[in-house]
Amino acid sequence: MTDATTEATTEATTEATSRLGHVVVVGASLAGLRACETLRTDGFTGRISLVGAEQEVPYDRPPLSKKLLAGDWEPDRIRLRKPDDLAGLGLDLVLGVRATGLDADRRAVALDDGRELAYDGLVIATGAAPRRLPGQPDLDGVCELRTLADAVDLRARIAEPGTRLVVIGAGFIGLEVAATARDRGCTVTVLEGAPSPLVRGLGVEMGAAVASVHARHDVELRCGVRIEAIEGANGRVTGVRLADGTLVGADVVLVGIGVAPAIGWLEGSGLQLADGIVCDDTLHTGLPGVYAAGDCARWHNHVFDPHDDAVMRVEHWTNAAEQGAHAARNLLQVAAGEAPVPYESVPFFWSDQFESRIQFVGRAHGDDEVHVFAGSTDGAFAALYGWQGRLRGVLGVSMPKMVMPFRALLAARASWDDALEKARMLTS
Ligand code: FAD
Ligand code: NAP
Repeated sequence: MTDATTEATTEATTEATSRLGHVVVVGASLAGLRACETLRTDGFTGRISLVGAEQEVPYDRPPLSKKLLAGDWEPDRIRLRKPDDLAGLGLDLVLGVRATGLDADRRAVALDDGRELAYDGLVIATGAAPRRLPGQPDLDGVCELRTLADAVDLRARIAEPGTRLVVIGAGFIGLEVAATARDRGCTVTVLEGAPSPLVRGLGVEMGAAVASVHARHDVELRCGVRIEAIEGANGRVTGVRLADGTLVGADVVLVGIGVAPAIGWLEGSGLQLADGIVCDDTLHTGLPGVYAAGDCARWHNHVFDPHDDAVMRVEHWTNAAEQGAHAARNLLQVAAGEAPVPYESVPFFWSDQFESRIQFVGRAHGDDEVHVFAGSTDGAFAALYGWQGRLRGVLGVSMPKMVMPFRALLAARASWDDALEKARMLTS
């Protein structure tokens, strides 16, 4: 940066600071923390309040189903920032307090302790919360996994080798927990309604290929089943009844059937809510000074134009981190009178299950063309996903070098032929 540009940037940020004064960030997790950090690194010196429903300082969720659940890591290890670094951000931490409403006209957020926080700028990063089965009973031993408290509880329940764990839902949570619990000596059955595991993330064929590692480790995976009821006796879970009458006995049942964006507190606020907070391509919600980021945000990602799936909500780590930063930066830019920048990004996620490291860049759709270009689907492999002559996603199972090189290609809206050529280069 030249001296002149630095001076201009400083002036713009000072201007933004004087206009914004107080920024409230609701949701004290990955996207919320990244928003706070970006405000500070971009020179915002005003007041920042970070509101979080959990009592915890921001922590990382991926280890909850892996190293922490396995007993290899303790909670201190998963804090997203060291205490000194967090203190250095100069935040007003409002933890253990839930936001209950947004009054956009008065620019105020209501809290469940009766207080109200007036804001000049607002970033909403309240993530998502686990879905429940219809009529799900409140029995001891029926668990979900989203928070540190959930993980500590589940860890104690699967500590005894031989514990019978039944997992409902063969999505990411279900399969990661299945792998960790099996490694700890549990007997594990996974029940899935769809014809194949990981259908939503990877499609039928690749979902089944990826999950084959579970059969090799004696996890019983039953797809295409319908859950009738979770049953119990004396307040404790005893098993899961299937629609065909079978009872699958259980000491612990984990319900991992997906999440819903945590946006109930925004009903009636004037925000457009439709499976997420509907934003424009810059993560702006349409209300003055209000942005959204992370698992709760739905936005138009131009990278995937013209497919109807270009308006998307993504439930993975990298997206939450990047969007938190992007939303904060746009909030400052607009306050400084500059144009906001669209958030255009190629989604990425990883998942660790037994010895497999699954990585995916881009998007998968049920009717994509899938082409395995390296390895074999009964072990390590990599595959391209394409639609309408374009590359749409790349999957790698224990093949890290075959996945990330495609992220730039996807961002450049590469054709299917370009992708095949790149795959040939990588494998020759
Ligand atoms: P969240 O992390 O959900 O945080 C939202 C925060 O807002 C929460 O702390 C919540 O308590 C708070 N909140 C909610 N409502 C309110 C309210 N009304 N008032 C105040 N606060 C509120 N992704 C990957 O890419 N790879 C992985 O391996 C991976 N593993 C995962 C394992 C587990 C067990 C889980 C649960 C998720 C995993 N993910 C993984 C997904 C990733 O962790 C999420 O995408 C990410 O945490 C989303 O961040 P976020 O900040 O948007 O929302
Ligand atoms: P998910 O990936 O959406 O998977 C939920 C699974 O449960 C789907 O396969 C779903 O099938 C199935 N299901 C839904 N209703 C069911 C029912 N009644 N009976 C049986 N199966 C049913 O969600 P998740 O695994 O619960 O994960 C929760 C969140 O954490 C997600 O946001 C996920 O992205 C995130 N997470 C990510 C990672 C990672 O990236 N590595 C790891 C853990 C968690 P349908 O699709 O047919 O509904």
